[in-house]
Formats: sequence, C-alpha cells, structure tokens
Amino acid sequence: MTDPRLDEAKAISARETVDRLGIVGLKAGGGELIGPCPLCGGRDRFAINLRSHAFLCRRCDIRGGDNIALVMAVLGCDFRAALTWLCGDAPAQIDPGELARRRQRAEERARRDRAAQDRYRERAIADARAIWARSRPGAQGVVRAYLTARGIAPGALPSIPPALRFLTDHPYVKKIGGALVTVHRGPCMTAGVLNPAGEITAVHQTWVDPEPPHGKARIAWQGEALPAKLVRGSKKGGAIRLVTPDDAEVLVMGEGIETTLSALAADAVPGAAYWAGVDLGNMAGRAQRGPGLRYAGLPDMSDAEAFVPPPWVRRLIFIQDGDSDPRATRHKLECGLRRAMALRPGLRGQIVQAGQGVDLNDVLAGRGADEPGQDGAGDR
Ligand SMILES: [Zn+2]
Repeated sequence: MTDPRLDEAKAISARETVDRLGIVGLKAGGGELIGPCPLCGGRDRFAINLRSHAFLCRRCDIRGGDNIALVMAVLGCDFRAALTWLCGDAPAQIDPGELARRRQRAEERARRDRAAQDRYRERAIADARAIWARSRPGAQGVVRAYLTARGIAPGALPSIPPALRFLTDHPYVKKIGGALVTVHRGPCMTAGVLNPAGEITAVHQTWVDPEPPHGKARIAWQGEALPAKLVRGSKKGGAIRLVTPDDAEVLVMGEGIETTLSALAADAVPGAAYWAGVDLGNMAGRAQRGPGLRYAGLPDMSDAEAFVPPPWVRRLIFIQDGDSDPRATRHKLECGLRRAMALRPGLRGQIVQAGQGVDLNDVLAGRGADEPGQDGAGDR
C-alpha cells in the first residue's frame, strides 16, 4: 500500500517547499522560479517549475521531478526522511541561523549586482552624451545623403529634424573576446534618444556607406556581417523625438527612424508628433507571461521602465513594420498600446501597417486599420 503522505507531499506548492528549505533569492518568470542554487550558489543556475515541480541546477546537476526529490537533494537525506520532513506530525524546519545566513548572502549578492549595473549604466550614458556632443547638426551632409538613399527625398522632407546629427569619421567599436575592437570607422548618422524628462540618455548610431548611393554601411568582422546600427547608452523609456509640434495631440511612432520619417514625409497625420521608439522591446515593455499569453498582447504593468507617451498624447499610433514574425510584432505593439491606455486614461491606441505599397494615409482613413482593446481591455 502506498504511503498516503505521498500525495500530501506532492500537493505542497513549489513556493512553500522552497521557502521551508530556505532557498532564497528566486525570482518568478515563465512559470518557473529561477535564481541562486541552494547547493552550489551558482547564480541563476537553479530553476523549479511552479506546476510540475521539476527542478534542476545547470552547474551542480541536481535534478528531479517533485518536492520529495528536492528535499532529498537539498538536505542530503533519503526518501523516507524527506517524506517525514515534508509531511511529518511536526514538519522540520531548516536551522534558523543557517536560513538567516543564506538570506544575508543572497541580499549582499543582489546589492553588488545592482551597484555594478548602475555603474555600467552611468558609463554608457556618459558615452552617449559625449558622442552626441561631438556630432554635428546639419541639414546637408551625411544625414541628407543617407535619408535620400533610403527613399526619403529632400522634397518630401525639406528640413531635417534636429534630433538627427552626424559624424564623418566615427569608430564602430565592438567587444570581441573581452577586448574592445574598432571593426569599422566612417560616416555615421546619430540620433539622440531622450528619456521622459527630456534628457539625452542614449544615442542611436547608423553607419553610412561612404560610397554612393550612401545606404547603410556594410560592416563585417572575420567574415561575419554586423548590424550597421548600434545604440549606446540607456534607451529604456526613451524615444527619438523627430518632430513635436506645440499643439500636437497625436503621436505617430515607428520602431526605426526611416519608417517614422517616411510617415512624416507622407504627412500621414497632419499636425501629429513623430517619434521613433528605437526598438520594439522598448515600445512594448514587459509582457505578461504564462500559459496562453504568448501572443495575448497584455502588458506586465509592473515594468516601470517601458515607454509611456507624454500626457498630451490623446491618440497613439504605432506603425507595424513588415517583418519576419508579424504575430510577435503585433503582440508587442498591443502590449505597448494597452500599457499607454491604462496609464493615460482617455488615450486611444491604434496600429497601422507600413507594408509595401500601402499608403499610410489610406490605412488611417480606415482600410487595414485595426484597434486593440475591442474587448474593453484598454477602455476602462
Ligand atoms: Zn547548483
């Protein structure tokens, strides 16, 4: 006959078992608790599934499929002792002194990690500001040549936004094998990324081919192609503010500078502001995770660093670029719009396609336009 305590032991939640074992510093994510291993201390090596209770450490290789196996691994005891520990008349607790020591070690580790991240971020922002200060404003030169090559003719965009500058001989530096290597240098379009307070916190760099027609530079290192665009600094919550009319109530935002400028050049929404969101992750912020939520477009509102439009925005229009995974892109854009609608009551969100041959004006007039939140998610 099987021990009735078996079912009881397996029914204990993963969180409770972990707490009673004194395993500290775990964070929830993707249906798992992840963090320092209780045995080897390896950072972010240990994971336990909240539903199945399967656990493993990728360093010391403890692994198993249920609470009893976890207790056996952590306390180094046999099956019977683990069962008694979990479901005995007086369930055992780990030594309080040891528990306190573990908590303290985990807190110290977290403090050191945060301090290192802060230092890295400050250095990156200082770099970004130095690059921006060196960059030259200018309606002609590198910026005009590049934009023309990308199909934005001078006639359609008579004045170049001051958010765009250039450098004629800018190094492309990449960390390779722990050392900084200049893999390329040449003309570069720079764009200031402003945080919500209007301060430069990052600079977006696009290296430009010095040869006509001056498209994106082809950059490679040992045969491997590298992206012609790099961001230096902290872009979180920021945007490249291309045009912001004083009385604007609509904000049109694409991921890239070119997409957003194309919409501006087409005068898609007269009187609107046009900002580039730098990348989809920044426009979307963190998404809610869990079963069935992969493409649900629901924002994790605890993300305090995602982009949020300023209070004057009454209508936020995200431009969806044609790309390889439209479903994932749409999910991200919907996350961003729902976040904005939740934080700015009365704001309306909209996604428009920037597909080939699609006139943005037509889309905004109704054809192909689509609004999330028809289930009321954002309208409350
Ligand atoms: Zn381990």
